[in-house]
Amino acid sequence: MTDRFVTRFDGIEAWSKLPAEQQAVIGALALELIVACHGEDTCDLHEVCPYEASRTLIERQLQEIVSDAMADQVEAWAKSGTPVPSALGKVCRDCGCSHFDPCEEGCWWATDDLCTTCANKRKWAEVEAQR
Ligand SMILES: [Zn+2]
Ligand SMILES: [Zn+2]
Repeated sequence: MTDRFVTRFDGIEAWSKLPAEQQAVIGALALELIVACHGEDTCDLHEVCPYEASRTLIERQLQEIVSDAMADQVEAWAKSGTPVPSALGKVCRDCGCSHFDPCEEGCWWATDDLCTTCANKRKWAEVEAQR
């Protein structure tokens, strides 16, 4: 069992620690990104789409700027693993499933951070170990 999905990234906390100039740039890009997504959803152009082009560009710019702004944390993630964004809500510590991306066979929460599929697997592993 790994615990790789246990650490969470709290965007609200990270945002509060950024200087105002970085918040301004990141905030503006976030708004432009969502406008691009809206445009892409409704665009009837398939070969060349300015919304898709801007979304790709803005995602890249955001990744660069945010990675720069949080360089120390990003560097630490290379060793500890990238934390799961807290916006996702509960995540299973064993398999990484969530309310938005459940296990194939369907699952719910056995505990706050363990899904029923993985709780059953753990139970079977215990039974096997006792044989
Ligand atoms: Zn699970
Ligand atoms: Zn699950």
